Amino acid sequence: MTATAPVTAAFGLPGGALVAGEWQTGGLTFAVSDPHDGSRAGWVARNDAADVDAAVRAAARAVTEPWPLWQRREALEEAARLVRDEAPWLAGIISTEGSKTIVEAEREVRRCVETLRLSAAAGSVLRGEVLEFADTERGADKRGWFVRAPLGVIAAITPFNDPLNLVAHKAGPALIAGNAVVVKPADATPHSALALAEILLRAGVPAARVAVVCGDAETGNALVTHPGVAAISFTGGPATAARIAAAAGPRKLLMELGGNNPVLVSGTADLDTAAGAIVAGAFGCAGQNCLSVQRVYADASIHEGLLARITAGTGALKVGPKTNRATDVGPMISEAEAARVEAWVDAALAGGARAHTGARREGSYYHPTVLTDVPTGADVLVREVFGPVVTVVPVASAEEAIAAANSAQALQAGIFTGVLDEALSTADRLHAGAVVVNGTSDVRIDSMPFGGFKSSGIGREGVRFAVEAMSEPKCTIIAGG
Ligand code: NAD
Repeated sequence: MTATAPVTAAFGLPGGALVAGEWQTGGLTFAVSDPHDGSRAGWVARNDAADVDAAVRAAARAVTEPWPLWQRREALEEAARLVRDEAPWLAGIISTEGSKTIVEAEREVRRCVETLRLSAAAGSVLRGEVLEFADTERGADKRGWFVRAPLGVIAAITPFNDPLNLVAHKAGPALIAGNAVVVKPADATPHSALALAEILLRAGVPAARVAVVCGDAETGNALVTHPGVAAISFTGGPATAARIAAAAGPRKLLMELGGNNPVLVSGTADLDTAAGAIVAGAFGCAGQNCLSVQRVYADASIHEGLLARITAGTGALKVGPKTNRATDVGPMISEAEAARVEAWVDAALAGGARAHTGARREGSYYHPTVLTDVPTGADVLVREVFGPVVTVVPVASAEEAIAAANSAQALQAGIFTGVLDEALSTADRLHAGAVVVNGTSDVRIDSMPFGGFKSSGIGREGVRFAVEAMSEPKCTIIAGG
């Protein structure tokens, strides 16, 4: 929705976009809604190609200004402190414009503090090394070294589901590596990114080293096609990824995409532990998590017992408003998204699936749903649901479980078993960016290399690995006589 009304600075923010070091308070506007009931959460700018051009040009100029590593580290350490101090403000923004409960939003703010601290510490990754030229005949009279040099302007395109921490996962590494970053946050949740940018500036990041342009795919497209952008760091869905890859031309692409994540439960697993973790991993953030548990392959010997525990645990979850601290499952990001999930579940039910709990929508809320007997090829089984739905499937052997798990692309996978050998041999054969033993796919530490294979992504995030990706080795050579 657009209008020409001035951008009102919601949540006490100084403006509705940050372009070339200036907060924008006028121009075209973009409405942001609270997914709970669709009420107005705020207005931000709707930035066009001219705004994106101004942001990228200013960022490119800023990268040429000196900003030594020690100052970058201090700014990011200070930003981490400010995020911690501003936790109630930030959690309120995340939970109002997004779909997280206030408790989930508070957890995300704590992770953001860690991401910024890890980013400050990751300056050590930039150290290069002296090159041993003397080990080649043509190099014997030469000396040299390499350092890791910044790329320039990084375009950071982020999704709605972790609207603060996923921006920090791009901005922190980009800045410590000496780049500038232009963020295009999800249209549903731009205020969280603007709030982080405001904190980064307050913490001493030079103006124009960080920009936030707001809008939808049009704004994003203007950014990813801008010739001044050196690399694109994208987190989002595979369809958007394909459009960006086609539009971007030959430049560095880092992509963190979705996953259809399996959990394998063997006959030797502790069923209470497995079921509790599966319920938490499938329905946290109303299933809108790239690591959500979507498929459970249970050994036939324990299938009934596991299903009963998962169904009981799911049925006990409290669905309700995000502001209620007792709520386990809040709304989805929009009524349209909840209706999409409803349509996928209804199609599976029409094809013979059974719902053990849930399978019900109220506005933007979709009740946590456990399915069995899902027909082969149903969307809920083969596509990323990104909603509160899990399917439980009995399997006759570990071989069958592994083959079924690998039939769709996982970002991460989990295995529950009481036998170490089985855990290790299964982990070796699962095709996923990480395999969690006696935990679900939904385990992530912000320092670990994070990403998937094939359609789950290109490259790795996780602070240290993002710093490597957002810098390149650059040699200095003293040619000798
Ligand atoms: P999305 O792909 O719809 O949008 C992501 C971002 O891309 C938004 O900012 C959007 O405005 C922008 N965009 C859309 N079209 C564009 C275009 N043509 N050019 C440039 N930018 C464009 O994703 P979403 O619905 O916000 O998020 C859900 C998806 O994100 C899921 O698939 C989920 O698995 C994935 N995700 C992955 C990770 C990870 O780390 N692997 C983390 C969180 C979410």
